[in-house]
Amino acid sequence: MDLSFTQEDIAFRARVRKWFEENLPKDELKSLDERVAWHRKLYAAGYVGMGWPKEYGGQDARPMEQAIVQDEMARVNAPSTVNGLGLSIVGPTIIHHGTPEQKSRFLRKIMNAEEIWCQLFSEPNAGSDLAALKCRADDKGDHWEINGQKVWTSGGFIADWGILLARTDQNVPKHQGISFFLINMRQPGIDVRPLKQITGGSEFCEVFFTKSRVEKDHLIGKLNQGWQIAQTTLGFERGAGTLNRVTTYLMSLRRLVDVCRSLKVNGHTAIEDAAVRQKIGRAYVELEVMRYAGLRILSRLEKGQRPGPESSIAKLYYSEYDKRYHHWVMEILGPYGNLLEGTPAAYAEETGSGASGRHGVWGVDFLQSFGPTIYAGSSQIQKNIIGERVLGLPKEVRTDRIEIAKQKGG
Ligand SMILES: Cc1cc2nc3c(=O)[nH]c(=O)nc-3n(C[C@H](O)[C@H](O)[C@H](O)COP(=O)(O)OP(=O)(O)OC[C@H]3O[C@@H](n4cnc5c(N)ncnc54)[C@H](O)[C@@H]3O)c2cc1C
Repeated sequence: MDLSFTQEDIAFRARVRKWFEENLPKDELKSLDERVAWHRKLYAAGYVGMGWPKEYGGQDARPMEQAIVQDEMARVNAPSTVNGLGLSIVGPTIIHHGTPEQKSRFLRKIMNAEEIWCQLFSEPNAGSDLAALKCRADDKGDHWEINGQKVWTSGGFIADWGILLARTDQNVPKHQGISFFLINMRQPGIDVRPLKQITGGSEFCEVFFTKSRVEKDHLIGKLNQGWQIAQTTLGFERGAGTLNRVTTYLMSLRRLVDVCRSLKVNGHTAIEDAAVRQKIGRAYVELEVMRYAGLRILSRLEKGQRPGPESSIAKLYYSEYDKRYHHWVMEILGPYGNLLEGTPAAYAEETGSGASGRHGVWGVDFLQSFGPTIYAGSSQIQKNIIGERVLGLPKEVRTDRIEIAKQKGG
């Protein structure tokens, strides 16, 4: 892999940096309308959905250009786009598997955040074992009728549309009876209930479907092929954005070093403490490893390949790092790390431009650091994928696989 930037990349980065310096919102974006307005400003500048084909409103941009924009956004802590799931997983899935009508109906509205999307995969007893899902779609002649429940739906309360996995055949092995639908969330028969988190926020929802409706032409791919299509969606979800995570951590680490220069520990500043310096050093070294994992994915994308199982290596690494890093921060800051508000400015995570796209509180970030080791496939599941698909180890023993093998006469 060639890791050097071309002259063109360097010039592009300079242009992007200038744009963000001139256009970064001065005040915190509070309402959904303000976030949509910022999204559209980014879109007008060509920084949303950059990798999408031009015919769907994208820029046909190279993966390197996309990585540069993400990196520059993270550097100034710019608020993110409002339709994250729409852009990162829904759009690419529709581009790969959708009909021409579905592409022209949905893609542009994802791009300009006219329609916001959520992902309706997980259920109370179907997370890691996603194929065990029970939510059903029944053929009613002119439409599909949906009954069942989903859970952990990120951003469900602001979503206009969702990608839904539902069971369409009860009588075949579980992976073979699932279909992939696009469902309008703004209809009677859909009850979206926010879940309260330990941080005080409510970013996730439970979603209940009672005789909800999916139009016949909103099935993606063929009937009962949903499992294969979901694999495309999950491939885009894992590993993406690893490089901009590196930049975000670097910014956070620099701020931590600043705080340690004034924070007093046992009568001297924290930065003079050998144990603190060791933690900061380790955090930096491990970040460099993450950078190379990100560059490896980027190099694959630059060659025109899709994200492969190595995105599971990056996903496992960054989510476990997130927990380790915030644990070290808590140890270093002591009681100041536990505050969810009211941290003295000298010790706060951010000095407070107000325009931040993130919470900007060490304690909140610590509590949130447990999420990445669960979503988009938990750490244990990533290890299974790495073992089986990267290292070629034997598949784990699972009773449902034995069942399928028996049915096939194996
Ligand atoms: C922050 C966050 C956002 C999310 N957003 C969404 C969303 O927008 N849409 C959506 O559909 N879902 C979403 N999810 C749900 C997420 O995908 C599931 O929580 C995840 O797949 C794990 O499933 P589970 O919670 O049912 O845990 P379980 O599958 O019950 O797992 C419990 C534990 O057992 C381990 N385990 C399970 N099976 C195995 C195995 N075979 N080998 C080894 N260990 C195993 C797991 O790793 C885990 O530690 C979100 C979750 C979080 C935390």
